[in-house]
Amino acid sequence: MEGGGLDQNGAMPGRGSESRPVEPAPATPGTSGDHVFNPSALEDLGTPGPSGGSAPERITEVGLRPVALKEFVGQGGVVENLRVHLDAAMERDEPPDHVLFSGPPGLGKTSLARIMAGELGTSLQPTSGPALDKPRDLVGLLTSLKRGDVLFIDEIHRLPIAVEEYLYTAMEDFRVEMTLDSGPHARILPIELEPFTLVGATTREGLLSAPFRARFGLSLRLDPYPAHELEQIVRRAARILKVQINDEAAAILAERSRGTPRIAGRFLKRVRDRAQIDGNRAIDAQLAEATLRSIGVDGHGLEEMDRRILRCLADHAPLPAALKTIAAVVGEMEDTIEDVFEPHLLRSGFLRKTPRGRMITEQGLRLIGAEPPLTSAQDGLPFTT
Ligand code: ADP
Repeated sequence: MEGGGLDQNGAMPGRGSESRPVEPAPATPGTSGDHVFNPSALEDLGTPGPSGGSAPERITEVGLRPVALKEFVGQGGVVENLRVHLDAAMERDEPPDHVLFSGPPGLGKTSLARIMAGELGTSLQPTSGPALDKPRDLVGLLTSLKRGDVLFIDEIHRLPIAVEEYLYTAMEDFRVEMTLDSGPHARILPIELEPFTLVGATTREGLLSAPFRARFGLSLRLDPYPAHELEQIVRRAARILKVQINDEAAAILAERSRGTPRIAGRFLKRVRDRAQIDGNRAIDAQLAEATLRSIGVDGHGLEEMDRRILRCLADHAPLPAALKTIAAVVGEMEDTIEDVFEPHLLRSGFLRKTPRGRMITEQGLRLIGAEPPLTSAQDGLPFTT
């Protein structure tokens, strides 16, 4: 069934119990301050996200967010595609197609959604997959949208299936239905919506159903940023925060930020704290290094949780470890390990994925000062870097 009606209790007729298994909401804050859940998506709703972060810190993140496409550093292909689509839609005086942004947390998906609304001169209504429990939760949001508004759904892969299917007719025909009364008196009330643009953000594009994905006219993937772009982002953030930083220090923060602007911003704020305590001195390489060391960030940008993951894998070597096992040992959510920590460990060559689980590489063993396991060759498990 696609689209369809919604009764007065917000249930889809005949679909009451059908819902996609939803991953549990993060229960404990992680150590990186860079959770899968994006708290900033809910800022406008006044709802703090589970990843915590002090209110002033969230406010600073909002301040650092680029507000126009020309301020958005990097992601050239994504920006170009978006530019063309927005310009063409504005020329036709039509709302743009629905857009799906995918990629790891902290790369700018929420920022791009806000930029879209800003460029179009419309409003952005933010919400998130886990916040929309039932189709009923959507009705108020959808009917409050004005022509051309952007409905932003963060973590869209976590929408229950009933809500997802209720969105189908809204996305395609700008119409939803409500069923009034029940039994022989049941009546279907069609509700016309103003044309709007749905912008979805996901760290797990693969979890979106094919029919849902097909309803997005534009699907754009964000990749980790190269260091030179992160340097520009650090320098831009420093200008906004009104702190002086030299090129060497900007390069150090950029290199350790695991390709992620949100992490670069977090590091800059910690260095700014120290610079301020030191009498508002300018940020140089020595101060940047000392600050990163003090918050447990090593020369590769690894933090304590990364090292715990590697130590867990070293304990299992030469056998691979399952994600479940790693999560239980290090005390972090499986999703967070996969989305936040693993990509950088993989890219840096400290961890590799095998069909049987995750393994530490020789490079990873060297990093944490562990010995390669003697049995690796005999076990027929090649221990490669
Ligand atoms: P996501 O939604 O992908 O988790 P956000 O859009 O919330 O990421 O971005 C996190 C922070 O990183 C933003 O507050 C912004 O300061 C910064 N940021 C992200 N992308 C860029 C960029 N391309 N240029 C400048 N700053 C960026």
